[in-house]
Amino acid sequence: MARWEKIGCFGLTEPLVGSGASGGLTTTAKREGDTWIISGQKKWIGNSPWCDISIIWARDVADNQVKGFIVENKNTPGFSVEKIQNKIALKVVQNGLITMDNCRIPEENRLQGDKSFRDTARVLRMTRYLVAWEATGCAMGAYENALKYCQERLQFGRPIGSFQLVQDLLAKMLANITASQCMVVRTAQLQAEGKLSDAHAALAKAFTTAKCRETVAWARELLGGNGIAAEYNVGRFFADSEALYSYEGTYQMQNLIVGKAVTGLSAFL
Ligand SMILES: Cc1cc2nc3c(=O)[nH]c(=O)nc-3n(C[C@H](O)[C@H](O)[C@H](O)COP(=O)(O)OP(=O)(O)OC[C@H]3O[C@@H](n4cnc5c(N)ncnc54)[C@H](O)[C@@H]3O)c2cc1C
Repeated sequence: MARWEKIGCFGLTEPLVGSGASGGLTTTAKREGDTWIISGQKKWIGNSPWCDISIIWARDVADNQVKGFIVENKNTPGFSVEKIQNKIALKVVQNGLITMDNCRIPEENRLQGDKSFRDTARVLRMTRYLVAWEATGCAMGAYENALKYCQERLQFGRPIGSFQLVQDLLAKMLANITASQCMVVRTAQLQAEGKLSDAHAALAKAFTTAKCRETVAWARELLGGNGIAAEYNVGRFFADSEALYSYEGTYQMQNLIVGKAVTGLSAFL
């Protein structure tokens, strides 16, 4: 996978378990000698309809801990994927519903360094940090399209960008973007220094996706009716921001991680 010879996907979320994945996974792994029997479903898994390998997170029935397994999509009896249709956001990615019915996985395909959900969370720290960058880019794309539109679109015989109320929105969008850029640059510095914590990643993910959501809504507003037409591009950023806000852990989950870090008190059940 590191050489791009095989493409993978990350299978954690289930049809009935999303935010509560740390303690509530229903996909099970049962060891029989040197083989693991895995059964369950995974929902929303990006790339899964076409990729080579799935990293599947399952609860070991023996010790109740979450463990990671490398599952070959094509050569594993009992493994199937149904592509999720009619998404309104992130249409560039194919998401799937994975079903595993007594899939037999060799012990050598278990991620040996993964002992519990704590290790799974180390992956989530990185992916959340990356979503913060995605959200910043999404807001920038919407702003750039909206700014150009405001300079070209005439109403009352003048570019709409000359109206004070329009400039107010553009200024607020730019402030959101600048704050998000500062935050993601700082998280990149912490990452490079080996100091990025779960709370840092959660804070950046929550803040940038919330600001992105606000920014793309203002961009859509500035395009008037054309804001909902796909060919003007802003509608795409508007829809994508909804997925960014909720995936890799929802806004609320990120704030609970931050809340636990600052108070020392866990609000998770
Ligand atoms: C486009 C897309 C791509 C995705 N890709 C992947 C992928 O590749 N791999 C993968 O494993 N998953 C993936 N996901 C799943 C994603 O991570 C989950 O959708 C997300 O974590 C939320 O889980 P849920 O949808 O089950 O919502 P739920 O957990 O059911 O949450 C519903 C609402 O309840 C709120 N809520 C839940 N518990 C609490 C609480 N204790 N306090 C306050 N509010 C609470 C949530 O914040 C949310 O607003 C993807 C999702 C999408 C939409």
